[in-house]
Amino acid sequence: MTGKAYLVGSGPGAPGLLTLRAREVIDAADVVLFDQLPGEEILASLPAGAELIDCGKYGSSHTLEQREIEDLMVARVKEGKTVVRLKGGDPFLFGRGGEEVEVLREHGIPVEVVPGITSAIAVPECVGIPVTHRRYASQVTFITGHEDPTKPESALDWEVLARLKGTLVILMGVKNLPMIAPALIANGKDPATPVAIIERGMRPDQRVTTGTLATIVDRARAAGVRPPAVIVIGGVVELYEGFAE
Ligand code: SAH
Repeated sequence: MTGKAYLVGSGPGAPGLLTLRAREVIDAADVVLFDQLPGEEILASLPAGAELIDCGKYGSSHTLEQREIEDLMVARVKEGKTVVRLKGGDPFLFGRGGEEVEVLREHGIPVEVVPGITSAIAVPECVGIPVTHRRYASQVTFITGHEDPTKPESALDWEVLARLKGTLVILMGVKNLPMIAPALIANGKDPATPVAIIERGMRPDQRVTTGTLATIVDRARAAGVRPPAVIVIGGVVELYEGFAE
């Protein structure tokens, strides 16, 4: 008898932004595998009777490797358990959710994906920055900042990204920002383009740092910006009330 796997998005961290389906599935779980991204409040609401497996502290070296997480999910489902893999935001945006579904399917395991509200849109939104706006941006591009743009094997084409007229939203970009901002400028993006970094969006200690492509690296360093943070680049940032160049 096999159980079932659920890949569940937790939203950006505020309990009210967890979907009804996510709550229902979490509450019925035998096993929940989580990391720290869903935030303290949601993690505190996980069912006490379930086996709760901490897959690692976000942003530091992971307690469990991706492979170990996948093996654990497969093993528990094969024991007949209902397994929830809880992920920050939406499971299919930079969360390795796509890979986990592939592995589960290879094992013939039934899996339901429960979409979540992605931090890529909700975190800027909650400080008053719409990722699109008729006056500023008719397109938005989501980018992983995980890759160092100065490395030749980068999967991202910074020349193309620099030419795009819309909003750029970078996740996991804090560490590489000192390479990303100059790469965009070197490829022709206006150094005066507004930038906002929102750290720990929707948490009690949320913080916003603003500047331009030319100034943001120094601003971020001075402020001691740390992950998790969403970086927004583009005219829409001017709509943030506290915007300072
Ligand atoms: N699947 C997630 C993203 C996973 S990648 C989603 O859809 O939101 C992890 C990155 O998400 C972090 O490095 C950070 O850039 C961003 N992130 C997630 N939650 C955040 C939050 N509450 N505040 C700021 N950034 C957040």
